[in-house]
Amino acid sequence: MTRRPFIGGNWKMNTDLASGAALAQALATESADRSAPLDVVVFPPFPYLQSVGRLLSASAIALGAQDLSSEANGALTGEVSAEMLTDLGVTWVLVGHSERRHRLGESDALVAEKLAMALESGLSVVLCVGETLEQRKSGCAHEVVAKQLESALQRLSADFAREIVIAYEPVWAIGTGVAATADDAREAHQEIRAVATSRYDSKLASGIRIVYGGSLVPGNARTIFAEPGVDGGLVGGASLKAGDFLSICSAATIGITAG
Ligand code: PEP
Repeated sequence: MTRRPFIGGNWKMNTDLASGAALAQALATESADRSAPLDVVVFPPFPYLQSVGRLLSASAIALGAQDLSSEANGALTGEVSAEMLTDLGVTWVLVGHSERRHRLGESDALVAEKLAMALESGLSVVLCVGETLEQRKSGCAHEVVAKQLESALQRLSADFAREIVIAYEPVWAIGTGVAATADDAREAHQEIRAVATSRYDSKLASGIRIVYGGSLVPGNARTIFAEPGVDGGLVGGASLKAGDFLSICSAATIGITAG
């Protein structure tokens, strides 16, 4: 099955209003080609969503948020609802990023609730999963990723499941400069597709996009994207430089083979 490549740029808690706008403007100018065969989404910090969204509105780049509340509305100081995001023109959201799981204590159960809230609100989702270095060293990387995924997919209908993008992001590769090897990425993606196959069926699982995240840079993107079953990437640090991000986008249009 042919899957459309996906590249996401997670700006995390970086940029200020001026530099975020400059980055968005550079991306919009340089990626005017709306016919490029891939989905590109940037995930700026909440306060800059509106201004970045305006700058990207004439481009092919979609606007994403880095998180959302599991609740629809109410007395939840500091939270941001799905409805607020869609109101601003946001169409994508990250759910379960490792920094939220490990530094901010989000449980598998909360991730599943956020996933359901996002999809029921009409947002497209990048669901992030991945093991820590300790888990990898102790030989349970695949079990950890499978458990995260099974928990997220447990109550998810097939119609919603076929729409999500899953990001395999080994925690030890995020922001470290040490990307997974192409072999590790391929193997993890195969395991993830196998979990989706046993939860749904092989036809549905073969349509789900699975992307790699963790120290992707222009120099390693093509090698990783060339692996069968790797449908693109979620990019952190390198998404803060327009040139690097766009070169990773180009690598995705050239190098991805479905499998
Ligand atoms: C991320 O935060 O999702 C990520 C992959 O970061 P980096 O590319 O900086 O490792």
